[in-house]
Order: sequence, then structure tokens, then C-alpha cells
Amino acid sequence: MKLILLGAPGAGKGTVAKLLTAIDGSVQISTGDILRGAVQSGTDLGREAEGYMKRGDLVPDALIMGIMEKRLQEPDCEKGFLLDGFPRTIPQAEALRELLARLDITLDMAVNIDVPREIILDRLCTRRTCENSDCQAIYNVKSNPPREEGVCDKCGSPVVQREDETEEAISHRLATYNEKTAPLIGFYEKEGLLLTIEAVNSEAVVNGVREKLGL
Ligand code: AMP
Repeated sequence: MKLILLGAPGAGKGTVAKLLTAIDGSVQISTGDILRGAVQSGTDLGREAEGYMKRGDLVPDALIMGIMEKRLQEPDCEKGFLLDGFPRTIPQAEALRELLARLDITLDMAVNIDVPREIILDRLCTRRTCENSDCQAIYNVKSNPPREEGVCDKCGSPVVQREDETEEAISHRLATYNEKTAPLIGFYEKEGLLLTIEAVNSEAVVNGVREKLGL
């Protein structure tokens, strides 16, 4: 499947993407994971992106498009892909439309995961992430803690609160979402690609996608 996952930070895009990869071997492409990996390894990309990310601001469109243009041409994308956290702005969506046309790739749909704001806020404050950039497993201190406190079940690395998940950065990220990313819902509706799913658990989103795609 070739999907865009839309939704506020904390809507569950990453969790849904991971569940969907298990259905048909499509790959999850998370620009946030790629950028955090680059920051951790201290690459030029990481150094450029770090300040924006810490503040909860978006990284410039040109940097993101550079990453995605390369990533979408890697062979593992042939089976399908789940775009998690990209596009985030109308210019990115327009550039993606052009890029896909150039690569002769057709999207199945853009899935808008619509979760009430109180749930989003609670989730982001209680979310913890594995700090190993090759793992980045997601936990929640209330609903899904690691078996041993602070230690990733999957790879044994420390499980930490992301630097952009302080209360201040979270409210900034949500404001940025409302201003820059929420307009993509209208963009994909006009393109005839939008599927909105109101759901508070990821399984319901996965079932909605399966039903729509007949999987
Ligand atoms: P995420 O893990 O998707 O919440 O992304 C974490 C941070 O990475 C965001 O707050 C942005 O600073 C940056 N980021 C991730 N994806 C994008 C994107 N498509 N465009 C701009 N910035 C991005």
C-alpha cells in the first residue's frame, strides 16, 4: 500500500504505520525518525535540523524534500510505503505530488487520523521513546510501559522523554500543526484521496484502512 498518514503529533501515526507494515511489507518512512537519527549521528543534516526540532518548529521544506526524494527511490519502497509525518506543509504536499508523478508512483490515499485534543495532550506528555536511533520504539508510561522501567524491551537501550516533548514544545508543535499541517486535510480532500478515521486506538485505524483497501 502507498499511504500518507496525516494527524496531529500524538495521533498515533507511528503506531499505525508499524501495524500496517506487518500486513503487506510496506515500509514506514518517518521523517521525524530520520531527522532524530541524523541529529544523533551528528551529520550535516542533523546539525541543520536540530535547532528547529528542539523548539518544535518545522525543518525547512527544502531539507525535507531532499531526504524524501532519495528515500522514495530506495528499492524497499517498491512494495509500498507509509509516510509518517510527511508532508507537513502545503508546499511539501505540492512537491510530493510532482515527485510522485515524476517517479510514476500512484498513492492509494491519505489517511487522516482524527483524535480529540485532550487525548493527544495526555499521550504526548506520557509518551516515551527508545533513544537508539535504529529502534525508536514508542512506549507510554501509563498504557504501555516497558517491562523494565526506562529500558527498551526490543533493544535494551534507554527509554527517554523526547526533548521536544516538554509541555512548552508540545503546545508549540500543536500550534504549528494547526497552522501549517491541518490545511493538508483540505488539500487531499480536493485530490479525492482523503479518508478520515475518528479513532482513539490504533487497531481501529488499521481496520478502517484494511476495509477501504479491501485487505
Ligand atoms: P515527528 O517525530 O514527526 O513529530 O517530528 C519531530 C520533529 O521533526 C518535528 O517537530 C519537526 O521539527 C521535524 N519534522 C519531522 N517531519 C517533518 C516534515 N515533514 N517537515 C518539517 N519538519 C519535520
